[in-house]
Amino acid sequence: MSDLSSRVDRVLAQVATAASSVGRCPEDVTVVAVSKTVDREAVDAAVALGLRHFGENRVQDASRKFVEPLPPGSALHMIGHLQSNKAKSAAAVFDAIESVDRASLIEALEKAAHACGAPLSVLLQVNIAREVQKAGCHPDEAPQLMDRLVQSPWLLPRGLMTMAPLVDDPEEVRPVFASLRLLRDRLQRQCPEFDLATLSMGMSNDFHVAIAEGATSVRIGRAIFGE
Ligand SMILES: *Cc1c(COP(=O)(O)O)cnc(C)c1O
Repeated sequence: MSDLSSRVDRVLAQVATAASSVGRCPEDVTVVAVSKTVDREAVDAAVALGLRHFGENRVQDASRKFVEPLPPGSALHMIGHLQSNKAKSAAAVFDAIESVDRASLIEALEKAAHACGAPLSVLLQVNIAREVQKAGCHPDEAPQLMDRLVQSPWLLPRGLMTMAPLVDDPEEVRPVFASLRLLRDRLQRQCPEFDLATLSMGMSNDFHVAIAEGATSVRIGRAIFGE
């Protein structure tokens, strides 16, 4: 069995264990394989192993890597900082933008999706830990930005995304994941007409904790594609 195949098996087993241990269904957690460090060949090998969701953090890399689109039923997620002037290319190549964090970007994405003629799924990225220089809006800005998102006919808000601080013991960031879920619950009450079910949180080092705290989507790079 190849290294990729055994790593994918291990990650899927760990996702299933983490979900079951808190009484959740493993199928309710989407694994987004973060392919930012690997070429298309590795992506295709992961597709052959059954993975369907991929994450990239640069528009230019993704546009090159996915000239040949993924098979039907797959999705490409933008998970990195997005400059407003790249919104058009991003809307053309990605199925979902997880890194929406400011009003100017919302405006640019709205125009881009309108130009493409297809509504675009988005997540609001929140800097829950309030780290300096970290992507994501301040938690206090989230209600206003979500209000702006739900008013857009071309953007479909699906929930929230966060990146927890890098720590040695993933238990340390459990409160970060719990806070994102509480914030989502509040925003869901604020916008009952939208389904904000998605919580994209957890990476290679902390996804089991994120799943225990309600993650519906985990973004896993190194544990799948190697260091
Ligand atoms: C790179 C990246 C990941 C994946 O991180 P790993 O530690 O390799 O699993 C997840 N989310 C974002 C936003 C990233 O940039």
